[in-house]
Amino acid sequence: MTPTLIDGKKVAADVRARLVKEIEELKAAGHTPGLAVVLVGEDPASQVYVGSKVKACAELGIYSQKWALPAETTQEELVQLIHQLNADDRIHGILVQSPPPPHIDEEAVILNIDPRKDVDGFHPANVAKLVLEDETGFVPCTPLGCMELLAAYGIPTAGKHAVVIGRSMIVGKPMANLLVSKKANATVTIAHSRTADLPGLCRTADILVAAVGRPEMVKADYVKPGAVVLDVGINRIEDASKPRGYRIVGDVDFEAVKDSCSAITPVPGGVGPMTIAMLMANTVKACRQQIAG
Ligand code: NAD
Repeated sequence: MTPTLIDGKKVAADVRARLVKEIEELKAAGHTPGLAVVLVGEDPASQVYVGSKVKACAELGIYSQKWALPAETTQEELVQLIHQLNADDRIHGILVQSPPPPHIDEEAVILNIDPRKDVDGFHPANVAKLVLEDETGFVPCTPLGCMELLAAYGIPTAGKHAVVIGRSMIVGKPMANLLVSKKANATVTIAHSRTADLPGLCRTADILVAAVGRPEMVKADYVKPGAVVLDVGINRIEDASKPRGYRIVGDVDFEAVKDSCSAITPVPGGVGPMTIAMLMANTVKACRQQIAG
């Protein structure tokens, strides 16, 4: 079977093109969507992510502020900045890049973000709205991007069995909530590190979502013939043949499973590009909602 390669770069470009039009309309009406990105410390991967987010804003015409704070910033100083951004009318979305240094209590910081500006969808008020299927809330960008990919490729979810491997608040749980919602109507199983017979369970999935963080863990015996596989994993593995000394692989052994599934996201170029596109979409949504008051 030749699987459909789900092209996240293309779908993300389509989302961005849609947003450019929306942003032009908002600007014509005197409103510019604004995003504040807060980074504490010098984690190199976080610096790259923050740089990509700010660049994406510039490309789309979204106003952005980048706050790069030193690693020794205190919890109180960070919370003070969040309150300042909550009160700034130019800013409609706020995100604090994860992970912060260990002395910062990330959950406590998130509680200080105005839920209407919580474009990452991590505030408990937004988690509740997701569970309640209240679409005024904000949903974490990566699972939102996965749903966008399924929709873009016309992949049906109603009545299908979806297995989500991973139960994080960033990917696994919101992904499961989106799939089980009345909009998607899938029957959902969440698997995790203590799940018994993971390969056997995964083999019952029509839609398999891997969000684990273990390079190429999902092998051929995890995949039912004809299943749709979404690989959220981003893992660095050593590769001396690459200039940087490593390459990026997903949680799925792509070569091993590709011949048995009907559609699959590659890594890179699958789920990854969707995350920032959905962050931009959430920022525009936040702007619209704040204008409406
Ligand atoms: P996490 O570490 O918070 O959660 C991992 C989950 O996997 C946990 O719930 C754990 O129970 C489960 N798990 C661990 N070992 C397991 C095993 N052997 N069998 C079954 N389940 C197991 O990770 P996360 O933040 O949810 O991220 C998961 C992966 O997705 C990572 O590779 C991360 O880099 C990637 N990610 C990608 C994007 C993107 O933009 N594409 C965004 C966020 C995360």
